[in-house]
Amino acid sequence: MSDISRRTGSCLCGGVRLVVTGQPTRVGLCHCKDCRKASGSAYAAFAIWPRDAFETSGEVASYGTRSFCPTCGSRVAWVGDDEVEVMLGSLDVAPTDLEPQYELWIGRRETWLHALPGTEQFEHDRTYDGPTPEGAAPPSPRPLSDAVAHD
Ligand SMILES: [Zn+2]
Ligand SMILES: [Zn+2]
Repeated sequence: MSDISRRTGSCLCGGVRLVVTGQPTRVGLCHCKDCRKASGSAYAAFAIWPRDAFETSGEVASYGTRSFCPTCGSRVAWVGDDEVEVMLGSLDVAPTDLEPQYELWIGRRETWLHALPGTEQFEHDRTYDGPTPEGAAPPSPRPLSDAVAHD
């Protein structure tokens, strides 16, 4: 395995550290109200890994599935049953080599932001996995179980 298969991250004060192994399942941007409120920023940029690819050390506090550092308040990860969502800004290397593949809740995108070229655009949460093959009928929308519900 190359070094790129293992990425480290931390909260601002360094009290909480995390490691993710292997490539993320997917990388996205979200403009939903939950992401805006939880981050204090206008949108969130995150990557999703399988739950068992994620390790954390140090004391964390949590609000639902969202964990954060009790000392500096930085978000650490949103941990679901099968997946974990890590903010790109939590990773140690900046910039990362990760590029978003999709955007969620685009109706709440700030007007001065524009759709990121080449990414899938979703009105709300993701409803099906991956783009529709050319010529194929669109799949019927079905909710996917993401690590966290967005709103
Ligand atoms: Zn901290
Ligand atoms: Zn969101």
